[in-house]
Amino acid sequence: MQYHNGNTDSLMFITPRPELVFERGEGSWLYDHEGRKYLDFIQGWAVNCLGHCPPEIAAALTEQAGKLINPSPAFYNAPMVELASLLTANSVFDRVFFANTGAEANEGAIKLARKWGRLNRSGAHEIITFGHSFHGRTLATMSASGKAGWDTLYAPQVAGFPKAIYNDIASVEALIGPKTVAVMLEPVQGEGGVIPAEVEFLQALRELTRRHGILLIVDEVQSGMGRTGKLFAYEHAGIEPDIMTLGKGIGGGVPLAALLAREAVCCFEPGDQGGTYNGNPLMTAVGVAVLKRLLAPGFLDEVAARGRYLAQRLNELSARHGLQGERGAGLLRALILADERGPQLVAAALAMQPHGLLLNSPRPNLLRFMPALNVSEAEIDRMIEQLDQLLRR
Ligand SMILES: *Cc1c(COP(=O)(O)O)cnc(C)c1O
Repeated sequence: MQYHNGNTDSLMFITPRPELVFERGEGSWLYDHEGRKYLDFIQGWAVNCLGHCPPEIAAALTEQAGKLINPSPAFYNAPMVELASLLTANSVFDRVFFANTGAEANEGAIKLARKWGRLNRSGAHEIITFGHSFHGRTLATMSASGKAGWDTLYAPQVAGFPKAIYNDIASVEALIGPKTVAVMLEPVQGEGGVIPAEVEFLQALRELTRRHGILLIVDEVQSGMGRTGKLFAYEHAGIEPDIMTLGKGIGGGVPLAALLAREAVCCFEPGDQGGTYNGNPLMTAVGVAVLKRLLAPGFLDEVAARGRYLAQRLNELSARHGLQGERGAGLLRALILADERGPQLVAAALAMQPHGLLLNSPRPNLLRFMPALNVSEAEIDRMIEQLDQLLRR
């Protein structure tokens, strides 16, 4: 499609995109090149935790851009130090390495665990991961992921990621051997279809990994930063993991991610880990603005309350249309359909009048909802009304 001075065909084809160009966003709303409005329950894939273009992010970017954009990762900068301190003060972790994407943070977690295994477990390097998990799109994180078809897509895979069954502790224990260094999981499987780990499973995993002297890594790229109604999803189980990764929400829409670890695990030495943009002040200034908002009194309670409200409204919808209920945690939820209509519903929602609705269907039998964490009840009602109309067709 021709658009102003360009053509959309100049972009490499990696996904079918609708014939529209988004030009503006505000809160839960997006506006395309024809001025058409869309109610957004995708929010950049659970990325824009404060909605589109929140004033605190715009302010952090403009203020920091006028001050210092990048002195290089070989020097400290103010927002980098402030954000790392805020993260360690509000979690069970002692140190932070900043990255740009979730996949890169997970690569860092894998490297840290392998190095720790070399030093402390006579070269143990295997990391047990789970079927249907998603950890990113680099070669190692694709190999760690349990997504169907990914084992052959860019073969050969990176070795050392045996797969256990999610929420099945015996399947994990059966895989632990002398080469095992860690277990890595998402506290809520996002791409896998919004499947929360059971509290008892997380607690049993912590106990099992401790007993075997191996590490527990939580990939909170999607579940972290308030998404489930707590700052981090591991808190629901009252456990203390050894390593955590963050992405998506931490940047509120800009590329920022983090690898956090407890002191005893922090074994990188100079030269082991790095990256041109790690901890750059422009992005970490945004992270500070986002985290301060999440930590404001009452904010996370509101997220939990909105999550309960969304769950209740989805359950009503499910009962009315004979669907199979809903599941999730906080404001990461899925509606389970009675058939494989997900992609069709997503397309029809986009085209609705008088305004479109942006939904996502990570599996054909379900719809996923990941609105801004400050979405209003009125916006949830509006979305439910539209979905109700669609399901009646
Ligand atoms: C999105 C996601 C990733 C990958 O993050 P990118 O920023 O796309 O590299 C990794 N893990 C989980 C759980 C995710 O949801």
